[in-house]
Amino acid sequence: MRKRIFWSIFAAALLASLVMASMVLAVQYRILEDRIFTELATECDLIQESLAVSKDPYAYFDSLSARDRITLVAADGTVLYDNAADPSQMENHASRPEIAAAISQGTGKSTRYSATQMVQILYYAQRLDDGTILRISVAQKSVWSMIQTAMAPAILILLLLAFASLFLSRSLARRIVSPINALDLDHPLDNTAYDELAPLLLRMDRQHKKIREQMAALTKEQREFSAVTDSMREGLILLDSADNILSINPSAANIFHASPEKISGNCILSLSRSAKIQSTMEAARKEGAGEAMLHQSGKSYLVMASVVKSDEAILGTVLLILDVTDKEEADHSRREFSANVSHELKTPLTSISGYAEIIRDGVANAEDIPRFAGKICDEATRLIALINDIMRLSQLDESIDLPKKEPVDLLAVCEDVCARLLPAAQKHGVSLAVSGEQATIRGIAGILNELVFNLVDNAIKYNVQDGSVALEVLRRDSQTLLRVSDTGIGIPKEHQPHIFERFYRVDKSHSKETGGTGLGLSIVKHSVQVHGASLELCSEPGKGTSITVTFPAEQ
Ligand code: ADP
Repeated sequence: MRKRIFWSIFAAALLASLVMASMVLAVQYRILEDRIFTELATECDLIQESLAVSKDPYAYFDSLSARDRITLVAADGTVLYDNAADPSQMENHASRPEIAAAISQGTGKSTRYSATQMVQILYYAQRLDDGTILRISVAQKSVWSMIQTAMAPAILILLLLAFASLFLSRSLARRIVSPINALDLDHPLDNTAYDELAPLLLRMDRQHKKIREQMAALTKEQREFSAVTDSMREGLILLDSADNILSINPSAANIFHASPEKISGNCILSLSRSAKIQSTMEAARKEGAGEAMLHQSGKSYLVMASVVKSDEAILGTVLLILDVTDKEEADHSRREFSANVSHELKTPLTSISGYAEIIRDGVANAEDIPRFAGKICDEATRLIALINDIMRLSQLDESIDLPKKEPVDLLAVCEDVCARLLPAAQKHGVSLAVSGEQATIRGIAGILNELVFNLVDNAIKYNVQDGSVALEVLRRDSQTLLRVSDTGIGIPKEHQPHIFERFYRVDKSHSKETGGTGLGLSIVKHSVQVHGASLELCSEPGKGTSITVTFPAEQ
């Protein structure tokens, strides 16, 4: 801009100087011409006066200096005398403008250019008293020859002018531009540089405000997006059309052990080189969406990819990564449970069918038949117990058809269970004791009853002769504790983590002897979960076992 201003001012100054010089020259030339004509007129007057007293006009003419050309023309235009040429050789001058004007008006003047001499010839003609025309002409340098003569000083002056305008334009350009350079563009309205800039600065201020508003809106949207994606448990990755990571939420970064800040902008391959992810993205590009299972760090993830399109052009890809480890494990344990159930049902059924066949075929002795019938009866009872436990477990599993929670007196439940199990305890030579304080919790009476029953039943079954079982109900802070302790055989350390699993038994034969299904503690675990409570096992082989259920504070 400064350059442009500089050149504009410089050119204008130069042009102005040239125009000025030309005008001065033209005016000077005109003044000079007028002065010459005045001089010629004066000379004509003087000659006329001298002629009046002169006897021989031609001799008088000859006596005059030959500086100017003098011509005497008759009234009809015939040249009578000329001090520079032979009059007889000269053509009639009546048509010459200065002569014609003098004939008609008394005086006349004209200027003609002689290309050969490169001079301007000024003619002045005056009618004398006798009707003849006296013409005096003088050669004057033409404008061009004047210019040529004055060329050297003119160039010098022009050069000086050029230098002066050069410096002037430079300083002017600097002075014009410096306030513009000093503009505070962050606060356009605070500037007072030029009034002409006011509309621009006003518009700039409006644009600033608009940009600030848009930035604020964008930041808000970005924050909202981050708030949503950051709190997502699922992994979310947004890729551009070149598979570079535009955004990755903390969950996704955790899955691939990466830092969201470091990985953003990098290619997806720098996050994971898994062929499954690549094939999912490939499928998404072809069909719009794709999914695959990914096993990473001992966990199972479902990767879902879908492309983002605009007018058929792929703008990017969205990857959603779900942790399906629990579901996979649940599926696995369900399959395992089904296999175990089949196996557990098969054993008593095989037994029943075996004894029934022996009786049917008459192979058994008459005295053995009641024993075999007793076996069939025992196995059938075991089968019913097993089926009841399975049904109860699946009911708890699915949380279907569960009665509503209501206030339940836990101490009363313990006393009731002890009363029901007293015959069994006596049979095993085990004593039962209930202690503690009265505590009412919100729960499902039937399930709580079953929970206490299973714990006390186990405490009796896995006890020793003259052993004891103690039931305690305690209130600690706002929680309620139920503890069933026995002085039984205890559970070895290595089995302790597994005893709440379905069909897990420490000693299979002992469990079966005592009519156990291997599902009692699984039902306990689920019942505890239904009540939002927690379980704690404390056991030492040969000393006894203590299981504590802690119910949360009343909601
Ligand atoms: P079961 O029907 O076999 O009793 P449970 O699920 O009730 O099945 O118990 C799982 C296993 O845990 C039992 O087989 C037994 O070995 C062990 N167990 C449970 N309770 C006790 C206890 N109080 N003392 C010692 N072992 C126990």
